Amino acid sequence: MNRVAVVGGGLAGLATAHALLHLRPELDVVVLEATGAPGGKVRTSVEDGYTFDWGPNGFLANVPETLVLARELGLEDRLRPAADAATQRFLYRDGGLRALPNSPGSFLRSELLSLPGKLRALAEPLLARSVRREETVYDFVARHFGFEAARVFAGVFVAGITAGDPRELSLDALFPRLRKLEATHGSLLRGMAAARRAERVAPPPAAAGGGAKRDGRLTTFEGGVQTLIDALATELGARLRTGARAVALRDAAGRPGGGAVVELADGEALDVDAVVLATPAFAAADLLAHDVPDAAAALATIRYVDVAVVALGYDRIDVARPLDGFGFLAPRGEGVRSLGVLWSSSTFPDQAPPGKVALRAIAGGALDPGFVALPDEDALAAVRRDLERTMGIVAEPESVKIVRWPRGIPQFGLGHRERVATARAALAKRRPNVALAGNYLDGVGLNDVVRSAQAAAERIAGVPRV
Ligand SMILES: Cc1cc2nc3c(=O)[nH]c(=O)nc-3n(C[C@H](O)[C@H](O)[C@H](O)COP(=O)(O)OP(=O)(O)OC[C@H]3O[C@@H](n4cnc5c(N)ncnc54)[C@H](O)[C@@H]3O)c2cc1C
Repeated sequence: MNRVAVVGGGLAGLATAHALLHLRPELDVVVLEATGAPGGKVRTSVEDGYTFDWGPNGFLANVPETLVLARELGLEDRLRPAADAATQRFLYRDGGLRALPNSPGSFLRSELLSLPGKLRALAEPLLARSVRREETVYDFVARHFGFEAARVFAGVFVAGITAGDPRELSLDALFPRLRKLEATHGSLLRGMAAARRAERVAPPPAAAGGGAKRDGRLTTFEGGVQTLIDALATELGARLRTGARAVALRDAAGRPGGGAVVELADGEALDVDAVVLATPAFAAADLLAHDVPDAAAALATIRYVDVAVVALGYDRIDVARPLDGFGFLAPRGEGVRSLGVLWSSSTFPDQAPPGKVALRAIAGGALDPGFVALPDEDALAAVRRDLERTMGIVAEPESVKIVRWPRGIPQFGLGHRERVATARAALAKRRPNVALAGNYLDGVGLNDVVRSAQAAAERIAGVPRV
């Protein structure tokens, strides 16, 4: 095998190409990106002096995937872990921002739930049982911590990751570690306490990621997450082709040793030995529809939701509230349309000029599909109403940037793992030289995407990565 086409130049595609070249430097790899720039959802721009991430604003440094990739790209010195203040998160509830508790005592003192609701949640170790059926995130939280806790927390628990509906999303697909914890300990609170004890006795090895702290904090790069994309694109050089939309994937009929032909929108046909589809699931489904219809059918049923990001810049004097945290999430039913607002310049202080404040509201998702269709002035007005209600901000922002991501985030509904397994099995049987990578497979976060890219590269290269 010599020539591999990677379709899609988001993080999944770029990281796949990077891993392929590490595993088999002799390979001729080409990355085909439909739009004019690589990165997909990962993009950063500087607007009026504010550093603005259009999609993700960082990755969690509690697992090695993105840290290792950063180190391989020579980006260690440009890693920027979130400020200490950003460990505190807030929830908007009953007309105020309430700090999320970090101990049973602070949970009891908090105003997040009624007293019976709190007592029910804290009784989890006594009442919890492990079950073997797949369940929604809402049902799982309700079973462990009670219905009031599920109403308040299940939605925000998933909103920050998938902008989804907790009554539809699969706990097993989205948070497999919680299911494992339940299987081992019955109770999640007991399981988490045991994990903390184990970590105190045997801390994880000083990380693969060098200087960055592996304490699970959000981490970005100097210049925003785009820095990671720029480094990957620089490494790939002419192997990355933008403006190259794949429109069909065919078997290279009759060619000795098999192979595939990738057809581009401009009519060019690329003859390759193997293909990695690193597009969203619906685009992979279109490309596979003719040759591997059962894989295509499974992928086509993975639902996506639309989300919007509204970034605002303010003079510090116009924001009366102390910005002593990461930002807040807003449960539905509290009169706030945004899913949450990140206090970007508290988390990453160099993302706003001195004396200024950068905020980033995320809106839309499964429960508010109309948001992304709003014209700019209405979207901005909705977010400004939210900021006035939650943080008392009435001043006009001095900088505004709105980005919409139609079909932006995949939803891991009930049956998700079977859909993915069906697609992978059909490919393994019918097209072993075609692999999948991307955020719809095993997890939505950047670490999951990098992991999926490494798995796809290993499969195509036929070499496990050490
Ligand atoms: C608003 C928002 C905030 C987020 N925040 C975070 C966060 O803070 N932390 C985190 O870890 N994750 C976050 N995520 C999730 C994360 O950004 C994504 O899961 C990840 O970037 C997806 O990468 P990908 O390469 O799988 O897909 P994409 O980024 O969607 O890339 C797919 C690429 O394929 C290309 N393509 C599609 N069809 C074709 C075709 N036929 N031919 C050629 N190219 C094609 C597309 O143009 C695109 O560039 C966020 C996502 C969004 C939308």
